[in-house]
Amino acid sequence: STQFRPQPRPGVMEIDAYVPGKSHAPQGVAKVHKLSANENPLGPSPHAVEAARAVAANLQLYPDGAATRLREALAARHGLNVANIMIFNGSDEALALLARAYVGEGEEGIYSAHGFLAYPIYIRAVGATPVAAKETDERSDVDSILAAVTDRTRIVYLTNPNNPTGTYLPFEEIRRLHAGLPKNVLLVIDAAYAEFVRRNDYEAGVELVAGNENVVMTRTFSKAYGLGGARIGWIYAPSHIIDALERIRDPFNVNAVAIAAGVAALDDRDHVERSVSHNEHWLRWTSEELEKLGLRVTPSVTNFILIHFPQDERYSAAAADAYLAARGYLLRRVSAYGFPNALRMSIGTEEANRGVVAALAEFLKA
Ligand code: PMP
Repeated sequence: STQFRPQPRPGVMEIDAYVPGKSHAPQGVAKVHKLSANENPLGPSPHAVEAARAVAANLQLYPDGAATRLREALAARHGLNVANIMIFNGSDEALALLARAYVGEGEEGIYSAHGFLAYPIYIRAVGATPVAAKETDERSDVDSILAAVTDRTRIVYLTNPNNPTGTYLPFEEIRRLHAGLPKNVLLVIDAAYAEFVRRNDYEAGVELVAGNENVVMTRTFSKAYGLGGARIGWIYAPSHIIDALERIRDPFNVNAVAIAAGVAALDDRDHVERSVSHNEHWLRWTSEELEKLGLRVTPSVTNFILIHFPQDERYSAAAADAYLAARGYLLRRVSAYGFPNALRMSIGTEEANRGVVAALAEFLKA
């Protein structure tokens, strides 16, 4: 009987654990191109690597628990208030702690139906109910989010640009969402892919955080900065929210290597610029080439593309995924995100992008 052993709290066993993108090719594949986790194909800034190495010589020392250098560097870089910045072990940690601080048992959290799958995990982990708002044309839909609000709603997660669709909601729409939400509901704008959006109206997001008590923006070093392995995320938030999160975070949630790498990466503006330009070029090229093959792709402003496959079983996403993996190209299945017949492809190196297009051309001819 299971009666005499510790029982997880209600809801925990209903959670589907997060499944990351593939990182291994089938046996015998010589060269692997990992295009399943939206990582930077140019790698991290060499300065960040150097800084991480330098810190590694003194790993007996605890990190600065307040990550002050990194918060100051971010404040200077983005023209923000240091006091409104907080650093996390990846933006995942921020997203989780926001649920832990603001959502309780019997309450609800809303996210977009085709949104990042970590949100329902964080909502369930605090004993609350995740509510998926439907989308229109593969885009988050402000009206359906607002329609999902009840008096039990405590948090709304909105990814912008969205993963896995790569779509973007103009800030006017986010303002409209915010205006329609009750004041006691926390609006979390997850801007993990912000750096790739050239039209940058993220200033408006900053304004929305600064001018209100219930808006938080989350950012990460995992994508454009190429530091996914270092786990560095941050938020820009009103002081009262920082105050709450400071009380529940782990004492040293951000490690010393991450802090040093983050500071150096921020300083290397050329590397980010190169990364964003590389992405821009290959995003356009790859999208166009895939369309020439007759595949529908969701127009993306990010560093990944959602590729839709024909209804024909021979040419399904599952078949394409296996075909590509056998040739070393690892893409992401997105069935769990509500796209059973699509694959998400991160923009890779020139070699990887050309390779995927060539392989898919063969696959579709076969
Ligand atoms: N939000 C979104 C939308 C993401 O795609 C990711 C990366 N999978 C994250 C947050 C988490 O990023 P990290 O924890 O590496 O900062």
